[in-house]
Amino acid sequence: MNNDEFRRCGHAVIDWLADYYERIEEYPVQSLAGPGDLRRRLPARAPEEGEPFDAILADMERLILPGITHWQSPSFFAYFPANNSPPSVLGELFAAGLGVQGMLWATSPACTELETRILDWLVEALALPEQFRSAGSGGGVIQDSASSATLCALLAARERATGGAGNHRGGDGTLVAYTSDQAHSSIEKDCRIAGIGSDNLRKIPVDTQFRLRPEELERSIRTDREAGRVPFFVCGCVGTTSTLAVDPLPDIARICREQALWLHVDAAMAGTAALCPEFRGMHAGIESADSYTFNPHKWLLTNFDCNAFYVADRQALINALGILPEYLKTRAGDDDGVIDYRDWQVPLGRRFRALKLWFVLRSYGLEALRAMVRRHVDLAREFAQWVQDSDDFELAVPPHLNLVCFRHRAGDAFNEQLLHEVNRSGDIYISHTRLDGAYTLRLCAGQAHTEYRHVENAWRVLREAAERLVNNNQ
Ligand code: PLP
Repeated sequence: MNNDEFRRCGHAVIDWLADYYERIEEYPVQSLAGPGDLRRRLPARAPEEGEPFDAILADMERLILPGITHWQSPSFFAYFPANNSPPSVLGELFAAGLGVQGMLWATSPACTELETRILDWLVEALALPEQFRSAGSGGGVIQDSASSATLCALLAARERATGGAGNHRGGDGTLVAYTSDQAHSSIEKDCRIAGIGSDNLRKIPVDTQFRLRPEELERSIRTDREAGRVPFFVCGCVGTTSTLAVDPLPDIARICREQALWLHVDAAMAGTAALCPEFRGMHAGIESADSYTFNPHKWLLTNFDCNAFYVADRQALINALGILPEYLKTRAGDDDGVIDYRDWQVPLGRRFRALKLWFVLRSYGLEALRAMVRRHVDLAREFAQWVQDSDDFELAVPPHLNLVCFRHRAGDAFNEQLLHEVNRSGDIYISHTRLDGAYTLRLCAGQAHTEYRHVENAWRVLREAAERLVNNNQ
């Protein structure tokens, strides 16, 4: 593809995407494709001769779209959102086009310095504590995911707890980490990867609102110490995956201070809400956190992948992850006056992810982003009110932020069937969890273009499907 063709095809791709966004509501939200549908239609081998770009573009429509679940649809209410926006997509295009590898400051100074500055902007925008600013001993870095951020936090904590021995001998089976039994599965996966092991992650019981119980945390730490094990890491959740529950961070932070444990805070989804002063109460207690993470790629109009990860002591992170072969030495790095982000993450290479976040923050400005958060929270509250007022449905827990956990009163099997029916209709897409063993439906309002009419439609689709099921079962 020469430059002229690139220009023509590039315009065609943007046109294609703009058209797609215009007609996105015409598609079934969840793909109706079955296993193997696409694989069967694809040739078994790569072509020997190049094909025209127009043919490839036509196959996007013909082959790929039927297998797409439309995450950007305003009627996508499943899991947590992964919302995006045109400025973000264009920022991503720049990152791909420039093709920068930002592993060292020297390999593209702008890649490092924009990232540092943007993450400092977010400290201020979310009113995060000062220890996470790059001007002090801490700082922020963009990771691919919250899973990776927590892994880095664990490795830094392990290195600190073992006085530098962790990198050489790994977890020796005595280090113990703690989180609530509602924490995201990535915490356990990270414990496995970091050599701590699933058996050495304590999943602390929660209260009736699915928040970690601090007295249980203290008891568990005491039991481990008495058995000669070494507690070293606690992950507090601000917004659990099932219900967006917020752990009592002030109590957890006190325990971590008293016991000299690393406190990591996972706010992957909920963190964005701190743009609005009225939601910042959920962060009470993070003043003494060692690390914190949230995902702009969930609720901040920045397309996947883009996770923000902060540490209070960047040296602890670098001690765990820094490794400097001869071929990566640079004069700037030797001077210690620059950040080499390769030492703040697991991979060596890194994309210029800060660009898309910069494009988003500049294009919208914080006030419009706050308005989006408030709109989603209002929509969820409205939906929760309809559930509460209904005879057939009930709330599983009081809604928090933009998530509503609810169920039909007819029991687990009915709710499972209901979920299947509404998702198969293609009108909306919701997901589920289990709370205290009960099958529970989740509706999370978080797409860029979700309005009142979409949530109203979701409620109608749910009620009508429930009525049909009740009639069929009679
Ligand atoms: N933490 C929480 C609370 C989550 O809800 C999720 C994903 O939904 C994650 C971590 C993992 O996020 P990621 O896909 O960025 O690893």
